[in-house]
Amino acid sequence: MINLSISQANEGLKTKKFSSVELTQAYLDRIKATDEKLNSYITVTNEIALQQAKKADSNGVFENPLAGIPMSLKDIICTAGIKTTASSKMLENFVPPYNAHVYDRLLGAGSVLLGKVNCDQFAMGSSTEHSYFGVTKNPWDLERVSGGSSGGSSASVAADLCAFSIGTDTGGSIRQPASLCSCVGLKVSYGRVPREGVISYASSFDTVGTFAKTVEDAALVLNVIAGKSERDATTPDVKVPDYTQFLKEDLNGVKIGIPKEYYGEGVDKETIDVINKGVETLKGLGAEIIDVSLPLTKYAIPAYYLLVKSEGSTNMARYDGIKYSHTTDQAKDLEEIYMKSRKEGFGDEVKRTIMLGTYCLSAGYYDAFYLKAAKVRALMKKEYEEVFAQVDALITPTSPFPAFKIGDKIDDPLAMYAADILTVPAGICGLPGLSVPAGFSASGLPIGMQILANQYKEENLFAVGNAFEKATEWHTKKPNI
Ligand code: GLN
Repeated sequence: MINLSISQANEGLKTKKFSSVELTQAYLDRIKATDEKLNSYITVTNEIALQQAKKADSNGVFENPLAGIPMSLKDIICTAGIKTTASSKMLENFVPPYNAHVYDRLLGAGSVLLGKVNCDQFAMGSSTEHSYFGVTKNPWDLERVSGGSSGGSSASVAADLCAFSIGTDTGGSIRQPASLCSCVGLKVSYGRVPREGVISYASSFDTVGTFAKTVEDAALVLNVIAGKSERDATTPDVKVPDYTQFLKEDLNGVKIGIPKEYYGEGVDKETIDVINKGVETLKGLGAEIIDVSLPLTKYAIPAYYLLVKSEGSTNMARYDGIKYSHTTDQAKDLEEIYMKSRKEGFGDEVKRTIMLGTYCLSAGYYDAFYLKAAKVRALMKKEYEEVFAQVDALITPTSPFPAFKIGDKIDDPLAMYAADILTVPAGICGLPGLSVPAGFSASGLPIGMQILANQYKEENLFAVGNAFEKATEWHTKKPNI
């Protein structure tokens, strides 16, 4: 039963084929048996999971499709009474006093928490190698990364260690790991899902979304977590439709743009071939394919990294060794508490964020770096708006290449940043994106197709994604672990 989609599991629960306790226990057994190989979970919440499952069973009706369904949460989502580490030494023993709003919404629907999953420290990275708790391995090849920053989420979904997972995507952290592990990964529009209680990286970019086994499942999860929150002023009052009504099986009348800049230098030929084949499938389903151009894409990486590192450096300022974080035992005075706690508590990528961000924001450099990048951001948004006046969705590869080997890029931060080239534009522009399984490399590594849409047009992603999924079998392939 661990390989069931949410809607299938819901059917099983409703018809009493199995109980939520049985389903939950099956996942807990699977985690126990296989996660030693993957390292996707930081904390497994055995007892809480079984209690929540019992509660779902005693309610008995399973009217909400997520009732009694076991999930994992990226370990930057605050859970009251349950350690939330941001995969860092800084927050190694941090137990939040409250739940993130997104977790409260999921609890309200009756979901079951299996545990907290690994990620790059404070969600900074593209491989989960920046976790204080060690890398999460790719279930398709244990020598390779599961992607990042939400690599624990993608590995746990792909290897059936949960039914779905909640992650965050600032510049690719849901879509890229979903692509590398062969699952469905949904980045929402900025503000579509509340961020309250989710540990911040770059506050004007961060979004909370989901990993799932099918496009329909991603829509079911979004139905529960989307919408204005009185606890997060950045969630606008945009109506939340029932996203499942957009799960189309044909694409008649749908216009799909192919932005040539996403198929250029640095993108593996094998990956492009897979996506081109995917585009043919969409065409066969009735979509009209239109070539489009987004010339500012070439500035996406520098603009993105200047902006997120600036915002990130200010978000990291709160970890001063005193309030709720790691405190050094080597300090003689207050200044040393700050300096040594931060030195000991943060990993290399977080330190790079602080250095780069502080530099960009400093007097004299602000205009040259931060402000310039902010202007590029405004221009890029305009460019995407113009393209989305012509098309309903864009199709691109999600990642320029399949999963890379553990250790390959860890000493070369620029190469790691470049891996995000196809996912950062949606982060910059606050757009939603969906990565769906689209094929495999010759060596058997998953390749994902990215669908992008205009802001708050998540329904377009579901329409295109579902039609593609129904016409292909890639999402049914499972790693042998
Ligand atoms: N790798 C990108 C970064 O470090 C994206 C991370 C993310 O989306 N959280 O900024």
